[in-house]
Amino acid sequence: MAQHEIARRTLLAAGLGALLVRPACAASAIVSENGGLDGVVASDARVETRFEGGRWCEGPVWVPRLASLVFSDVRANRMMRLPSEGRAVTFRDPSANANGNAIDAQGRLITCEHLHRRVVRQEPDGRVTVMADRFAGKPLNSPNDLVVARDGAIWFTDPTWGIENPEEGRPSEPEQKGRFVFRLDSSGRLDVVSDSFEQPNGLAFSPDERVLYVSESSGAGTPEGKREIRAFDVAGGRLSRERVFAMLQSGAPDGLKCDEAGRVYAGTDGGARIWGPDGTYLGRIATPGDCANIAFGGPDGRRLYLCSGPAVHAVQLKVRGAGLRS
Ligand code: MG
Repeated sequence: MAQHEIARRTLLAAGLGALLVRPACAASAIVSENGGLDGVVASDARVETRFEGGRWCEGPVWVPRLASLVFSDVRANRMMRLPSEGRAVTFRDPSANANGNAIDAQGRLITCEHLHRRVVRQEPDGRVTVMADRFAGKPLNSPNDLVVARDGAIWFTDPTWGIENPEEGRPSEPEQKGRFVFRLDSSGRLDVVSDSFEQPNGLAFSPDERVLYVSESSGAGTPEGKREIRAFDVAGGRLSRERVFAMLQSGAPDGLKCDEAGRVYAGTDGGARIWGPDGTYLGRIATPGDCANIAFGGPDGRRLYLCSGPAVHAVQLKVRGAGLRS
């Protein structure tokens, strides 16, 4: 190949790359607390912008059969699919103001919909099955986020934001007596597993599923609200020994994930904050704006995706996420 042809191709490749991926932060995005992130991420790792132009990105989940991240653009009323390499494409439009997403052991996508105040499952033929839309005979508030346990049960939170904010659903009066954390077992039985939250939000299991972490986000936009991550012991589909695992000084925790070593990651103001399983604060992966939700993915399960307002960023980690499905 002629020298000028190599140069032209190099330029083309560089130009294409610049269109698809660019650093999100000029300065180092890794803010390690006393070296706490040494085992998590290289100190010079770059946070790259993989998507921008959304309105409010949330609910990321890695879908192995698509080799893609699927996420919700809640206020744009659509869901997007972002391949491991390349540009995002529309996945579902309209999306009923979908928010949190997860996949079950069969690889089916489970989604929280604000507009219809329900949790749905997409079947292999594309049909959508309603998994939960009422409790005690009344509509749910607006399911926000969910996690699927190994036994197939779907654990989800039901705060009221999706019936308060016209940009994220349809304003309505809540009909539930609280903002509950629910467990939907594989027979279809729906139980309240916690009624102690003002606004429950993200949730994640420890790798052995013996601990459930849940964000209390009533402090989002309200100084007197709470901004903490709570932990519970899990046994027999029930929660016990509720305690505060971590507290934030500002903002509020949103989406949660654990890695394979049991570290806890939270979407917060200023990026993803990370704690050891014992609650020791380890540091932060900074994003240009607030980070709402996070997900492990990529071909090796070591890429952390960060949904931050109109954008989705990604950074390569040294560790895999917990509970990733193939
Ligand atoms: Mg949320």
